[in-house]
Amino acid sequence: MFVTRFAPSPTGRLHRGHAFSALTAWSAAKAAGGRFVLRIEDIDPTRCRPEYEAGILEDLAWLGLDWERPVRRQSDHLGDYAAVIDALRARGLLYRCFRTRKDILNAIGDAPHGAMEAVRPGPHRAEEEARLLASGAAFAWRLSLDRAREALGEAVWHGMIFVEEGEGPDGVTGVLPVDPTAAGDVVLARKDTGVAYHLAVTHDDALQGVTHVIRGQDLFAATQVQRLIQTLMGWPAPTYRHHRLLAGPDGRRYAKRDRSVTLAELRAGGLTAEALRDELGFSCGG
Ligand code: GLU
Repeated sequence: MFVTRFAPSPTGRLHRGHAFSALTAWSAAKAAGGRFVLRIEDIDPTRCRPEYEAGILEDLAWLGLDWERPVRRQSDHLGDYAAVIDALRARGLLYRCFRTRKDILNAIGDAPHGAMEAVRPGPHRAEEEARLLASGAAFAWRLSLDRAREALGEAVWHGMIFVEEGEGPDGVTGVLPVDPTAAGDVVLARKDTGVAYHLAVTHDDALQGVTHVIRGQDLFAATQVQRLIQTLMGWPAPTYRHHRLLAGPDGRRYAKRDRSVTLAELRAGGLTAEALRDELGFSCGG
């Protein structure tokens, strides 16, 4: 059974780019006679707000989409993610990181390849870690690429692949090799919430039986580290369909931070859902 999802973070109102992404996933599910899952990715308490979640439901319903209920809201399931962190810790794959963002940026600044280098700060020295722990300082859990590589063995480490049925940033498609080092020693549990995006998203894709991850090309790089986590956890590998990012009239892609015109504003201005669907290439009936 074909299962895909739309997984927005309620950090603002949806814009045309989101509508395009949601319609792409929803239409694919309809065309395949499959299931469409909506998931609210609200693990970042500093940026997510309930009113944005309500806005997402309102906007998607207005667009004419339907989805399975109940909708999974990640903040309701922090215990699930903590269990995965515990399992990875028990296998010795994670290390504590007390560094602040500023510490990391400073360290990168000193490195020969500057910001291009994926962040791999490495474990603290034992005495330092003990001192920081005793001081009650907050820490994140990072995935150790060295230990992951050791755990998986060379053949698996170099043999990871993913199937791209859409197109990557340079139009790449087909069976592609994974670069497990792409995100460095990625944070899997943040200091504040005990979970981070890559962990929550891979856990939920596996839990919800997502067979096709359909999302924008901006998340193509994320696929590399997500395939690594799936491999470490023995979770199934979904097929990926990265889609192009919608550009506005000025040629720049739609993004929340640019204060792109929201669907709510378009609606208030008199645009109909049908007209928007037409504009985005999804005419009646999906
Ligand atoms: N929640 C993520 C976002 O809003 C998308 C996650 C995904 O599609 O994998 O950008």
